[in-house]
Amino acid sequence: MSGLHHVTAIAGDPIRNFGFYTRDLGLRFVKKTVNFDDPGTYHFYYGDETGRPGTILTFFPWAGASPGRRGVGETHQTAFRVPQRSLGYWTQRFTEKGIAYEALEKRFGESVLPFTDPDGMALALVGVPGAENEPGWSNGDVPAEHAIRGFHGVTLLLDSAVKTAAVLTDVFGFKETGREGSVIRFKAPGDAEGSVVDIYEAKGFLRGHQGGGSVHHIAFRAVDDAEQGKMAQKLVSNHGLHPTEQRDRNYFRSVYFREPGGVLFEIATDIPGFAVDEPVATLGRDLKLPSFLEQHRKQIEGVLPNLEETVS
Ligand code: ZN
Repeated sequence: MSGLHHVTAIAGDPIRNFGFYTRDLGLRFVKKTVNFDDPGTYHFYYGDETGRPGTILTFFPWAGASPGRRGVGETHQTAFRVPQRSLGYWTQRFTEKGIAYEALEKRFGESVLPFTDPDGMALALVGVPGAENEPGWSNGDVPAEHAIRGFHGVTLLLDSAVKTAAVLTDVFGFKETGREGSVIRFKAPGDAEGSVVDIYEAKGFLRGHQGGGSVHHIAFRAVDDAEQGKMAQKLVSNHGLHPTEQRDRNYFRSVYFREPGGVLFEIATDIPGFAVDEPVATLGRDLKLPSFLEQHRKQIEGVLPNLEETVS
């Protein structure tokens, strides 16, 4: 399998972020942990029932984060897939909940409903024929039939597409499948979750400035360490790029690199997954820490806002 593994973004208030994604969008909260590089900050993972690769949206929420500014060298929009016939349900839900959305548009023949989260993060729902046959997880509020089925894909806003396109096709197995205006569509083999990367080529735009509502990085799938190693080697030999050493993120293992267009990319392994330190039935319930932070659990819990007290 190939395609997106996860998308990681920056948020403001953690409690607001938690409420929006679990209650309003009906995603499952699959992991409550901290930023391993900044343990006084939460790291939230939302996804499907088990947090399969291709369904995982993660956040670093900082209560005082100043808003980001969208621009080139960044992920411009993150899109989820839903059944085609569910777009009416979602439009009505956004209206009822006061969630900002734009008029339905067509992209590459698909219906797209753009909307934003409370931090101004640019999101969209894409109606995908056949998605109704994929299992949907329900939080009891959004019915399973209308549930989000993972990512459709992302749109990158870049000055120039060429070198980024070469990485997508040569290293991650994507193929160019179409062009529409300034947008080039790339698809990973199969039609699974997270198989689309659109490059929106726009010369002369301002560079983005990261902050609340910005995507921090996007991660592509590798089945295991061996495949990840081969991909990293290709980045060096065929593209002159400099991936990091592998880092253990507990639920996957990661290598990072700055792609030629300026977006931070990651290669994340499908293994071991989110059930490695708690059962699927209670994913997301307890604060999970990597072993090197366990000794600091008391201090860490002392600085993190309590989600339970504020969830109605
Ligand atoms: Zn990541």
